[in-house]
Amino acid sequence: MFKAFLIKYAEIGLKGKNRYLFENALCDRIAEVLKPLGLYNVYKEQGRVFVECPDNFDYEETVEAMQRVFGISSICPVVVIDDTDWEILTKGVGDYVDAMYPDKNITFKVMAKRADKNYPLTSPDICKEMGDYLLRRFPELKVDVREPEVRINVEVRKKSYVYSIVIPGPGGMPVGTNGKAMLLLSGGIDSPVAGYMISKRGVAMAAVYFHAPPYTSERAKQKVVDLAKKISGYTGKMRLYVVNFTDIQLEIYEKCPHDELTIIMRRYMMRIAERFAEKENCLGLVTGESIGQVASQTMHSLASTNEVCSMPVYRPLVAFDKKDIVDVAIKIDTYDTSIQPYEDCCTIFVAKHPVTKPNLKKIRNSELRLGEYINELVDTAIKTVEIIEIE
Ligand code: ATP
Ligand code: MG
Repeated sequence: MFKAFLIKYAEIGLKGKNRYLFENALCDRIAEVLKPLGLYNVYKEQGRVFVECPDNFDYEETVEAMQRVFGISSICPVVVIDDTDWEILTKGVGDYVDAMYPDKNITFKVMAKRADKNYPLTSPDICKEMGDYLLRRFPELKVDVREPEVRINVEVRKKSYVYSIVIPGPGGMPVGTNGKAMLLLSGGIDSPVAGYMISKRGVAMAAVYFHAPPYTSERAKQKVVDLAKKISGYTGKMRLYVVNFTDIQLEIYEKCPHDELTIIMRRYMMRIAERFAEKENCLGLVTGESIGQVASQTMHSLASTNEVCSMPVYRPLVAFDKKDIVDVAIKIDTYDTSIQPYEDCCTIFVAKHPVTKPNLKKIRNSELRLGEYINELVDTAIKTVEIIEIE
């Protein structure tokens, strides 16, 4: 019975003069996720976004696609009544209730909105008159204005709209309305969640993965590509930079104290990520780090990886417990991919007893042992990067 959806958005309604930019970005993103499913018509009208569906559209598939669009607070399947004439409107709303709740064994309340302030009835009038009409037509119905089982929403605009199902959207803000960031994406549980969370605030994403063949396999890389695909389900198209990090790691392994390996490697990852971030016009880096989770994520370690970049580093999981991160990973369906047991470039070269309180001066000194040659290796890694366009 539904051929359209009314889309509600939350925070983007608060953006004052720039509001239309947010609304347009939201419409564009909805159109983008629906495009592969058929010919939908997405448009905005007076603080609402409407989606008109093609004949024979798949309801579940359409809802699922829109549940990945940041900026949507709720998705309401709606019946459009082509007129605002009171008699046609009441009959239409009655027919809706009849079809949706055939046994009529419900308590209800009518909620009304009118966009046209010249409409002969005020919103409270519409609620009352419509409620009376429904009770006359279906005497089995019961009114409950405090906690109704069903809220019959009636909106009178150029046409009239009736809905009573409200499906939650993901919230957040439309991707691209808040610039772009570079995500350091490993194959683990944390970084995909970090990317999702920052993107949810309206930030477009690019990603970089440090690959160390032959120590890390093709399958480990494929896992990262799979994770990038999952994230791009929310963020839209995303460019993934795959950096060959092997020679840099081997060089650090040869020249630097082994207990500092992870920290120094991390510092090189950040430096290289920042170079790609500049190229992509990103305004920050994103990592999945969380205080104290492992030796390389103590406050001391974070300070030491932080100092090599001049861009802000966003760490949305910084105060999350592992369990809470896992919950989000399950919700966004990255968990099962993340736990596939492929080696990760950091675990291979990891020391038995890594420093947990790296001393900045000491780390800088250790890096001096790498000499000019490390910069050549970094340049080569940047030049030979593989770029994968994730759709
Ligand atoms: P994750 O689950 O995201 O891998 P983790 O708990 O395994 O995190 P670390 O391995 O210490 O933690 O990595 C910390 C952060 O550094 C990751 O969240 C990620 O942002 C980045 N990182 C680590 N390894 C790589 C890699 N090979 N390529 C890209 N980024 C990486
Ligand atoms: Mg990891």
